[in-house]
Amino acid sequence: MPDGPIGLLGGTFDPIHIGHLRLAEEARETLGLAELRLIPAGEPPHRDTPRCPGEHRLAMARLAVADNPLLTVDDSEVRSEGPSYTVLTLERLRAQVGPERPLVLILGADAFEGLPGWHRWEKLFALAHIAVANRPGYAPHGRRWPAVLSAELDAACRGRRLKHPDQLRAAPAGGLLSFDMTPLAISATHIRELLAQGHSVRYLLPAPVLDYIAAHSLYS
Ligand code: ATP
Repeated sequence: MPDGPIGLLGGTFDPIHIGHLRLAEEARETLGLAELRLIPAGEPPHRDTPRCPGEHRLAMARLAVADNPLLTVDDSEVRSEGPSYTVLTLERLRAQVGPERPLVLILGADAFEGLPGWHRWEKLFALAHIAVANRPGYAPHGRRWPAVLSAELDAACRGRRLKHPDQLRAAPAGGLLSFDMTPLAISATHIRELLAQGHSVRYLLPAPVLDYIAAHSLYS
Protein backbone atom coordinates (compact mmCIF):
# COMPACT_ATOMS: atom_id res chain seq x y z
CA MET A 1 0.00 0.00 0.00
CA PRO A 2 1.64 3.28 -1.08
CA ASP A 3 1.81 5.91 1.63
CA GLY A 4 2.00 9.03 -0.56
CA PRO A 5 -0.57 11.81 -0.41
CA ILE A 6 -4.19 10.97 -1.16
CA GLY A 7 -5.99 13.46 -3.39
CA LEU A 8 -9.68 14.21 -2.89
CA LEU A 9 -11.86 15.79 -5.54
CA GLY A 10 -15.40 16.61 -4.54
CA GLY A 11 -18.08 17.89 -6.87
CA THR A 12 -21.61 17.38 -8.00
CA PHE A 13 -20.41 15.60 -11.15
CA ASP A 14 -23.79 16.27 -12.76
CA PRO A 15 -22.55 14.75 -15.06
CA ILE A 16 -18.84 13.96 -14.77
CA HIS A 17 -16.92 15.28 -17.81
CA ILE A 18 -13.39 15.38 -19.17
CA GLY A 19 -12.67 18.67 -17.36
CA HIS A 20 -13.08 16.77 -14.06
CA LEU A 21 -11.09 13.81 -15.34
CA ARG A 22 -8.15 15.88 -16.60
CA LEU A 23 -8.21 17.81 -13.33
CA ALA A 24 -8.00 14.51 -11.44
CA GLU A 25 -5.32 13.02 -13.68
CA GLU A 26 -3.15 16.14 -13.86
CA ALA A 27 -3.46 16.73 -10.12
CA ARG A 28 -2.42 13.14 -9.49
CA GLU A 29 0.61 13.45 -11.71
CA THR A 30 1.67 17.04 -10.94
CA LEU A 31 1.22 16.69 -7.18
CA GLY A 32 2.71 13.18 -6.96
CA LEU A 33 -0.43 11.69 -5.41
CA ALA A 34 -0.53 7.99 -4.61
CA GLU A 35 -4.23 7.89 -5.49
CA LEU A 36 -7.11 10.25 -6.08
CA ARG A 37 -10.67 9.78 -4.85
CA LEU A 38 -13.60 11.43 -6.57
CA ILE A 39 -16.32 12.25 -4.06
CA PRO A 40 -19.72 12.97 -5.61
CA ALA A 41 -21.77 15.19 -3.32
CA GLY A 42 -25.04 13.97 -1.90
CA GLU A 43 -26.97 17.10 -1.12
CA PRO A 44 -24.54 19.93 -1.90
CA PRO A 45 -25.14 22.73 0.60
CA HIS A 46 -23.78 25.59 -1.53
CA ARG A 47 -25.76 25.29 -4.69
CA ASP A 48 -28.96 24.15 -6.34
CA THR A 49 -30.05 20.55 -6.01
CA PRO A 50 -28.35 18.48 -8.72
CA ARG A 51 -30.44 17.60 -11.76
CA CYS A 52 -29.63 13.93 -11.29
CA PRO A 53 -30.05 11.79 -8.17
CA GLY A 54 -26.86 10.71 -6.39
CA GLU A 55 -27.16 7.11 -7.57
CA HIS A 56 -26.91 8.14 -11.22
CA ARG A 57 -24.06 10.62 -10.59
CA LEU A 58 -22.22 7.91 -8.67
CA ALA A 59 -22.75 5.36 -11.44
CA MET A 60 -21.47 7.81 -14.08
CA ALA A 61 -18.37 8.64 -12.00
CA ARG A 62 -17.63 4.93 -11.57
CA LEU A 63 -17.94 4.32 -15.30
CA ALA A 64 -15.67 7.28 -16.04
CA VAL A 65 -12.75 5.93 -13.97
CA ALA A 66 -13.34 2.20 -14.42
CA ASP A 67 -10.15 1.78 -16.47
CA ASN A 68 -7.89 3.75 -14.11
CA PRO A 69 -6.91 2.01 -10.86
CA LEU A 70 -5.42 5.24 -9.45
CA LEU A 71 -8.74 7.09 -9.65
CA THR A 72 -11.49 5.78 -7.40
CA VAL A 73 -14.96 6.89 -6.38
CA ASP A 74 -15.95 7.44 -2.76
CA ASP A 75 -19.69 7.02 -2.26
CA SER A 76 -19.87 8.22 1.34
CA GLU A 77 -21.43 11.63 0.66
CA VAL A 78 -24.15 10.19 -1.56
CA ARG A 79 -24.86 7.49 1.05
CA SER A 80 -24.96 9.82 4.03
CA GLU A 81 -28.08 11.59 5.24
CA GLY A 82 -28.14 15.38 5.30
CA PRO A 83 -26.00 17.99 3.57
CA SER A 84 -22.59 17.07 2.16
CA TYR A 85 -20.20 19.21 4.15
CA THR A 86 -16.60 18.77 3.02
CA VAL A 87 -15.33 19.26 6.56
CA LEU A 88 -17.32 16.21 7.73
CA THR A 89 -16.01 14.12 4.83
CA LEU A 90 -12.45 15.15 5.63
CA GLU A 91 -12.92 14.34 9.33
CA ARG A 92 -14.17 10.89 8.40
CA LEU A 93 -11.28 10.30 5.96
CA ARG A 94 -8.72 11.60 8.44
CA ALA A 95 -10.03 9.12 11.02
CA GLN A 96 -9.80 6.39 8.39
CA VAL A 97 -6.20 7.04 7.22
CA GLY A 98 -4.73 8.16 10.54
CA PRO A 99 -3.03 11.40 11.56
CA GLU A 100 0.15 11.07 9.44
CA ARG A 101 -1.00 10.46 5.89
CA PRO A 102 -1.10 13.62 3.76
CA LEU A 103 -4.54 14.41 2.37
CA VAL A 104 -4.87 16.92 -0.47
CA LEU A 105 -8.18 18.56 -1.25
CA ILE A 106 -8.23 19.47 -4.95
CA LEU A 107 -10.30 22.49 -5.94
CA GLY A 108 -10.83 24.43 -9.13
CA ALA A 109 -10.11 28.16 -8.69
CA ASP A 110 -13.84 28.95 -8.75
CA ALA A 111 -14.55 26.50 -5.93
CA PHE A 112 -11.59 27.78 -3.92
CA GLU A 113 -12.79 31.37 -3.99
CA GLY A 114 -16.14 30.27 -2.61
CA LEU A 115 -14.45 28.58 0.37
CA PRO A 116 -15.43 31.21 2.99
CA GLY A 117 -19.07 30.24 2.40
CA TRP A 118 -18.44 26.61 3.35
CA HIS A 119 -19.46 25.10 6.67
CA ARG A 120 -16.55 25.34 9.20
CA TRP A 121 -14.21 26.14 6.30
CA GLU A 122 -11.33 27.31 8.50
CA LYS A 123 -11.06 23.78 9.88
CA LEU A 124 -10.24 22.39 6.42
CA PHE A 125 -6.55 23.33 6.64
CA ALA A 126 -6.22 21.33 9.87
CA LEU A 127 -7.45 18.25 8.03
CA ALA A 128 -5.85 18.50 4.58
CA HIS A 129 -3.63 20.46 2.24
CA ILE A 130 -5.46 22.38 -0.46
CA ALA A 131 -4.32 22.38 -4.09
CA VAL A 132 -6.01 24.82 -6.45
CA ALA A 133 -6.13 24.29 -10.21
CA ASN A 134 -6.21 27.36 -12.36
CA ARG A 135 -9.51 26.86 -14.17
CA PRO A 136 -9.58 28.32 -17.66
CA GLY A 137 -12.36 30.71 -18.46
CA TYR A 138 -12.68 31.54 -14.81
CA ALA A 139 -11.04 34.88 -14.14
CA PRO A 140 -13.10 37.02 -11.79
CA HIS A 141 -12.70 40.71 -12.46
CA GLY A 142 -10.65 39.77 -15.50
CA ARG A 143 -7.72 38.82 -13.32
CA ARG A 144 -5.93 35.56 -12.88
CA TRP A 145 -6.02 33.60 -9.64
CA PRO A 146 -4.38 33.90 -7.12
CA ALA A 147 -4.41 37.66 -7.53
CA VAL A 148 -8.01 37.93 -6.37
CA LEU A 149 -8.85 36.60 -2.94
CA SER A 150 -11.31 37.91 -0.41
CA ALA A 151 -9.68 39.42 2.67
CA GLU A 152 -10.76 36.55 4.93
CA LEU A 153 -9.54 33.86 2.54
CA ASP A 154 -6.30 35.74 2.05
CA ALA A 155 -5.82 35.89 5.82
CA ALA A 156 -6.53 32.16 6.22
CA CYS A 157 -3.98 31.36 3.50
CA ARG A 158 -1.20 33.50 4.90
CA GLY A 159 1.95 31.52 5.58
CA ARG A 160 0.53 28.36 4.02
CA ARG A 161 1.77 28.62 0.46
CA LEU A 162 4.01 25.78 -0.65
CA LYS A 163 6.55 26.21 -3.41
CA HIS A 164 6.81 22.61 -4.55
CA PRO A 165 4.51 19.56 -4.56
CA ASP A 166 7.16 17.55 -2.67
CA GLN A 167 6.30 19.67 0.36
CA LEU A 168 2.90 17.97 0.48
CA ARG A 169 4.69 14.91 1.87
CA ALA A 170 6.32 16.81 4.68
CA ALA A 171 3.09 17.30 6.66
CA PRO A 172 -0.33 15.68 6.71
CA ALA A 173 -2.23 18.95 6.19
CA GLY A 174 -2.12 22.73 6.27
CA GLY A 175 -0.37 23.73 3.01
CA LEU A 176 -1.70 25.59 -0.01
CA LEU A 177 -0.50 25.03 -3.55
CA SER A 178 -1.73 26.13 -6.95
CA PHE A 179 -1.05 24.36 -10.20
CA ASP A 180 -1.81 24.86 -13.86
CA MET A 181 -3.77 22.34 -15.83
CA THR A 182 -4.56 21.91 -19.51
CA PRO A 183 -7.18 24.54 -20.28
CA LEU A 184 -10.53 22.82 -20.79
CA ALA A 185 -13.37 25.29 -20.61
CA ILE A 186 -16.01 22.61 -20.08
CA SER A 187 -18.72 22.73 -17.45
CA ALA A 188 -21.49 20.35 -16.48
CA THR A 189 -23.90 23.28 -16.83
CA HIS A 190 -23.02 23.64 -20.48
CA ILE A 191 -23.29 19.89 -21.04
CA ARG A 192 -26.77 19.85 -19.44
CA GLU A 193 -27.81 22.75 -21.66
CA LEU A 194 -26.58 20.99 -24.80
CA LEU A 195 -28.40 17.79 -23.83
CA ALA A 196 -31.61 19.66 -23.02
CA GLN A 197 -31.48 21.21 -26.50
CA GLY A 198 -30.86 17.83 -28.12
CA HIS A 199 -27.30 18.68 -29.18
CA SER A 200 -24.36 16.31 -29.22
CA VAL A 201 -22.06 16.15 -26.19
CA ARG A 202 -19.87 13.48 -27.69
CA TYR A 203 -16.17 13.81 -26.73
CA LEU A 204 -16.99 16.14 -23.83
CA LEU A 205 -17.45 13.15 -21.57
CA PRO A 206 -16.28 9.54 -21.67
CA ALA A 207 -18.21 7.26 -24.04
CA PRO A 208 -19.51 4.94 -21.27
CA VAL A 209 -20.98 7.99 -19.47
CA LEU A 210 -22.58 9.11 -22.71
CA ASP A 211 -24.12 5.65 -23.13
CA TYR A 212 -25.38 5.73 -19.54
CA ILE A 213 -27.03 9.12 -20.07
CA ALA A 214 -28.74 7.85 -23.21
CA ALA A 215 -29.82 4.55 -21.61
CA HIS A 216 -31.45 6.37 -18.67
CA SER A 217 -32.75 9.36 -20.64
CA LEU A 218 -30.99 11.79 -18.31
CA TYR A 219 -30.96 15.58 -18.83
CA SER A 220 -33.25 15.52 -21.83
P1 ATP B 1 -21.60 22.91 -12.86
O1 ATP B 1 -21.43 23.49 -14.22
O2 ATP B 1 -22.84 22.06 -12.68
O3 ATP B 1 -21.42 23.93 -11.77
P2 ATP B 1 -18.89 21.89 -12.91
O4 ATP B 1 -18.60 21.45 -14.30
O5 ATP B 1 -18.32 23.19 -12.44
O6 ATP B 1 -20.45 21.82 -12.64
P3 ATP B 1 -18.48 20.56 -10.36
O7 ATP B 1 -18.97 19.18 -10.09
O8 ATP B 1 -19.20 21.69 -9.74
O9 ATP B 1 -18.42 20.72 -11.97
O10 ATP B 1 -16.94 20.69 -10.09
C1 ATP B 1 -16.19 19.86 -9.25
C2 ATP B 1 -14.77 20.40 -9.18
O11 ATP B 1 -14.17 20.33 -10.48
C3 ATP B 1 -14.70 21.89 -8.78
O12 ATP B 1 -13.58 22.05 -7.92
C4 ATP B 1 -14.51 22.61 -10.10
O13 ATP B 1 -13.79 23.82 -9.93
C5 ATP B 1 -13.68 21.60 -10.89
N1 ATP B 1 -13.89 21.68 -12.34
C6 ATP B 1 -15.02 21.43 -13.03
N2 ATP B 1 -14.83 21.58 -14.35
C7 ATP B 1 -13.54 21.93 -14.52
C8 ATP B 1 -12.72 22.23 -15.69
N3 ATP B 1 -13.23 22.23 -16.92
N4 ATP B 1 -11.43 22.55 -15.47
C9 ATP B 1 -10.93 22.59 -14.21
N5 ATP B 1 -11.63 22.31 -13.08
C10 ATP B 1 -12.92 21.98 -13.23
